[in-house]
Amino acid sequence: MTTKRYRIATIDGDGIGPEVSQAALRVLKTACGDMLDFDMLDGGAGHYQKTGQVLPEDTFNACREADAILHGAAGLPGVVYPDGTEVGNDLHLRLRFRLDLYANVRPVKLLPGVVSPLRGYEGGGIDYVIVRENTEGLYASRGAGVLLRDEFASDSLVTTRKGTERVAEFAFRLAESRNGALSDGKKRVTVCDKANILRSYAFFRAICDEVHQQHPDVAIDYAYADAITVHMVKRPEFYDVIVAENMFGDIISDLGAATAGGMGISPSGEIGDEHALFQGAHGSAPDIAGQDAASPMATVLSAVMMLRWLNDRHGDPRLAEAADRIETAAGRVLSENIAVPRDLGGNARCSEVAEAICRALG
Ligand code: ATP
Repeated sequence: MTTKRYRIATIDGDGIGPEVSQAALRVLKTACGDMLDFDMLDGGAGHYQKTGQVLPEDTFNACREADAILHGAAGLPGVVYPDGTEVGNDLHLRLRFRLDLYANVRPVKLLPGVVSPLRGYEGGGIDYVIVRENTEGLYASRGAGVLLRDEFASDSLVTTRKGTERVAEFAFRLAESRNGALSDGKKRVTVCDKANILRSYAFFRAICDEVHQQHPDVAIDYAYADAITVHMVKRPEFYDVIVAENMFGDIISDLGAATAGGMGISPSGEIGDEHALFQGAHGSAPDIAGQDAASPMATVLSAVMMLRWLNDRHGDPRLAEAADRIETAAGRVLSENIAVPRDLGGNARCSEVAEAICRALG
């Protein structure tokens, strides 16, 4: 049996970041024992205020050398660059580009005990994954847009063959590994675009079609970005895997999160060929920071994704087993009303939810 230990680069960040990150660490330590070593690193908007650096080089190097990266959240109100863009976002954007984390994976899964705003949907009734292209599309030009004479502003949408091929390949492989859509059991990748309007989106779709040729066991489906918002609300059970350009993926994954209980329970993974970063889908939520009021569920479930990704890379069944145990324990804490966080209608504090998950693990 392997005794390998895994190094996790951990950045608490700002706002609720430290609370949710510490909660997730507590759960990971309980479930994984000494299988994981945590390297606590500086970074974020608060660090920028003190030092002028949002992602210190030491932190970047440690993230590059680590087996995986776990992040709380980053961003503080009013901490912005001279062009008005937020400093906090830059932490994971820099990691995203420098470590080439091209697939942003956002599971949309309604867990037992969680109430969906969609009438008629109960735990287990929504289960699909959005794969957002993470390094190009409309956000590729961040920091390089044009503002002319205070009269005209422009940002370019970038779609490359290589960038689209690799994210499409990721989406099809993910569909192959899943059990298909809840409505009909079919393995399906839905391409979300506006191929009817812009050439770059038609190109994105054409390349997804090409990649599909290598995955005949998965069905391909298409949806325009506006139309899919209606379908995600009216028939979410139809979806299995959705692949989308960066900005569309950003927008529809928050909609998906809302249908499954909100930002406080929605995990995310930003995954490349060599590196991966995991964090809750939410931001630093400054309105509730420092009050022990946030839900740690999103970060805990992101940690579950991290363990599964590590297992895919290292083939270490201890990781997969720990992931299953944490997911089951977190699910029990919600479905048996043991400690329901405030954003899901309960009154449990962040630390109490973490404690309850640890007890359920026991
Ligand atoms: P960003 O731009 O970084 O995504 P934001 O301020 O737009 O940040 P969030 O920080 O995600 O968005 O917060 C949006 C709302 O959701 C806030 O009212 C916040 O209190 C709530 N929220 C976010 N995360 C959590 C959480 N983990 N637990 C409880 N409530 C949360």
